[in-house]
Amino acid sequence: MKYKEYAQERLDQLHSRIASAAHQAGRNPKEISLVGAAKQQSTELTQAFVDQGLLHIGENYLNEALEKQQAMQASRVDWHYIGRIQSNKTAALATHFSWIHGVDRLKIARRLAVQNPPEHELNVLIQIDIDNEPSKGGVAVDQVPSLCQQVAELDGIVLRGFMVLPKPRQGLAEQRVPFAETRELLERCNQQFGLTMDSLSMGMSGDLEAAVLEGTTMVRVGTDLFGARRN
Ligand SMILES: *Cc1c(COP(=O)(O)O)cnc(C)c1O
Repeated sequence: MKYKEYAQERLDQLHSRIASAAHQAGRNPKEISLVGAAKQQSTELTQAFVDQGLLHIGENYLNEALEKQQAMQASRVDWHYIGRIQSNKTAALATHFSWIHGVDRLKIARRLAVQNPPEHELNVLIQIDIDNEPSKGGVAVDQVPSLCQQVAELDGIVLRGFMVLPKPRQGLAEQRVPFAETRELLERCNQQFGLTMDSLSMGMSGDLEAAVLEGTTMVRVGTDLFGARRN
């Protein structure tokens, strides 16, 4: 397959970036999952990465994801929904994904919980609006504890942690700040409500090292993994 070597090389590169940041942080690189953010990438290219060992695919658009899932049925992949959530799509999201990263309202969480098919494990992450940019989605920092407590109580979904999409910052020290805040918020919520959230979806192509240093467990990488997106 023409994409095989390309996929192998990109995956090797990403895994060494993660490993070297983990080493610097004194962490085991196995604690960090690589989620390939595959929006606008072809099924053929996405499949090549999966064939070379990529285990997690993140998608932003439901229809695009369903097409790829259909074509890639034979492959073992964990599908993550990382896009904006429309409430009329929650049934399909619950059915076709195992992780939903962008939950930011109780109403959405309730719909996912009710609509999740029996025996299907659905992991959810609350998206935190860490930079006070409501247009990107996410719950305001001061609303996080109450949303967290309410979502954790729902049967039918498992609250695993937080997701964050900070605005771009220059330099490692600056990039670490929102990730540290998100981690501290998770630790506080676990303590306050006796929860066991264990996941942080933080870090993309440009800031994954900073996220690894601050405890991320999932980096969502598009450009530096697959290459530039088609439009
Ligand atoms: C596209 C996307 C990414 C990946 O971004 P890159 O900068 O291309 O690595 C990560 N998270 C979300 C939510 C995205 O939409």
